[in-house]
Parts: sequence; C-alpha cells; structure tokens
Amino acid sequence: LIQIYMPLNFLGFVYREIKQSLTDMEKMFDVIKTNPDVKDELNAEPLKIKGGTVSFKDVSFHYNPARQILKGISFEVPAGTTTAIVGASGAGKSTISRILFRFYDITGGSVEIDGQNIAAVTQQSIRSHVGVVPQDTVLFNDNIRYNIRYGRPDATDAEVEEAARLAQIHDFILGLPEGYETEVGERGLKLSGGEKQRVAIARTILKNPEILLLDEATSALDSHTERGIQKALEQISKGRTTLVIAHRLSTVVNANEILVLDKGAIIEHGTHDVLLEKGGAYHAMWHRQQQATEAAEKLEELTEEE
Ligand code: ATP
Repeated sequence: LIQIYMPLNFLGFVYREIKQSLTDMEKMFDVIKTNPDVKDELNAEPLKIKGGTVSFKDVSFHYNPARQILKGISFEVPAGTTTAIVGASGAGKSTISRILFRFYDITGGSVEIDGQNIAAVTQQSIRSHVGVVPQDTVLFNDNIRYNIRYGRPDATDAEVEEAARLAQIHDFILGLPEGYETEVGERGLKLSGGEKQRVAIARTILKNPEILLLDEATSALDSHTERGIQKALEQISKGRTTLVIAHRLSTVVNANEILVLDKGAIIEHGTHDVLLEKGGAYHAMWHRQQQATEAAEKLEELTEEE
C-alpha cells in the first residue's frame, strides 16, 4: 500500500503547487481590454510587422509601487524562434506575457516588436499580430465549430476542420454526439482542460499570428493527452516567434533559448543542454520534474492495472 500511497501523496503536492499557479489569461485579458490606464498615443500608428522579432530592453515593472515585479529584464526572441520562460510560481512569467500584449505599461525600459516600441503603436494592431493560447480557455455556449471559428470568423468549414486536425482535436470532435455541431461550454458539453486547450490552439491556427504567446497548461494531464498537446504546440509554433511560459520542462527541451526567471530577474539563460551542463537552478528544476514525471507515470501504470 505504501508503494501506492507515496507517489499519490507526492502527486497531491505537485498538483496543489500547480493549481495555485493557474492564471486564466484570457479572462484577465478581457478585463484588461478595458484597462483605462493603457492608452494609445495621440498619433499612434499601427505596428508594421516584418518577421516578428521581440525585444525586451531593461524592462522594469510593478503592479504596486511597493513591490517591484520585473527588475531590468533584457532578452530578444529572433523572428521565427522559440523562447521558453521557466521559474517558480510568482517569479513574473505571466507578467512578461501580459506586458508583451500591452495589458500594462511598463515603468522602465522598452519592449519592441520589429524595432517598434509597443507603447507607440496602436494596441489593436499589437493584438492582431499576437496570438495567445491561455492555460484555461473560455468556451462560448455555442457549438464547437463556432468556438474554433472565433479565431477567424470568415474561415470556411474546411479551414476550421484543418485547424482542428493540426491541433489534434479533429478525431475527438468527430466522436462527439453531433460532431462539429455539438454544443459545448457551460450549458453544453464540458470539455477537459486538455481538450479546451486544443480548441484554443485550433483557434490560434486560424488566426495565424506572427507572434505566439503560449501559457502551457499545468494541470495534471495523462501522458496520452500531454503528447497530443505537445504535438499541437509544435505544429503551431513552427516558423513563428514564440514565447512559451513553460511549466513542464519536457516542452522546453527544443526551445532555441530558455530564460530562468527568479524573483523578477533572469538568473540563467541558454539552451537545455547548456543549462543542464551548467549545473545551476535549471539543472535542479529539471531533476525535480523528472522525479515528479516518473512518479506520475508509475501512478498511471498502477491505475491502468486495476
Ligand atoms: P505562476 O507560475 O504562478 O503563474 P508567474 O511567474 O507567472 O507565476 P506572475 O503571475 O507574473 O508570476 O506574478 C508575479 C508576481 O506579481 C506575483 O507575486 C503576483 O502575486 C504578482 N501579481 C500578479 N498579478 C498581479 C496584479 N494584477 N496585481 C498585483 N500583483 C500581481
């Protein structure tokens, strides 16, 4: 019994840790859309997108002057590459993505997209070129086809289905009682966290933005779902400038650059191999997660055997 209890207990701990760190980006984004503090400059022009290179230059930020959240952050995501941000809960990872979407104005430094300061271009134009896949997607009380098409309202049925295929959710949808016409959301069929995230991925595939912000789901997914999502994320980030807030380190192994954030500062950066070799904070995180994954897999095996 103890053999079952120990990993269960450990998983409970991991789950609680993870649960605490959940932020519903999309809901928050809706709130901030009406944030009166962020204003377009009088003569703001739309962003002129080229490849979608993102640069943070000595960025400082606080929500409240009493507590500095980002302390002089600098990094660049070259067009078409993937940068992953890892770090403990509360380190400031989601804050970085909110700032890139310009939900908040920063207090020092600058954020640029293709050399243009995002504070000087229209907010609407930033949001049209940046796609967000939040951790927890809000579904409308409508059918699943409508929920995917929301990414680009003029998309044809064939385009919606192709996006769903790429997002690894098409087969699941075909298995629903009324296929693409099945009602979902609060008053319809409730989808799991992993299914909802794949709907969000399909939406974003339709939107086809140059820059992608992924807030990886942290909630416990079974390994089959996790592989599906992983594949969908690989599809969607191909050739796009991608910033991933990574909770599961398995996702970051292939990132072009990993930033390790600690209390609002970047304490390490490099590729997975370089950071492992370094034997510092990333190395320690990696080993902790490997143990958690092994425990989870053991548990899955035990449950399957029952
Ligand atoms: P997690 O992994 O838990 O999502 P994170 O690294 O993404 O954490 P952030 O959400 O960026 O962390 O938060 C950084 C800090 O800013 C936290 O201490 C948090 O409490 C604080 N914070 C976040 N949003 C607000 C807000 N709207 N007002 C005040 N403080 C906030």
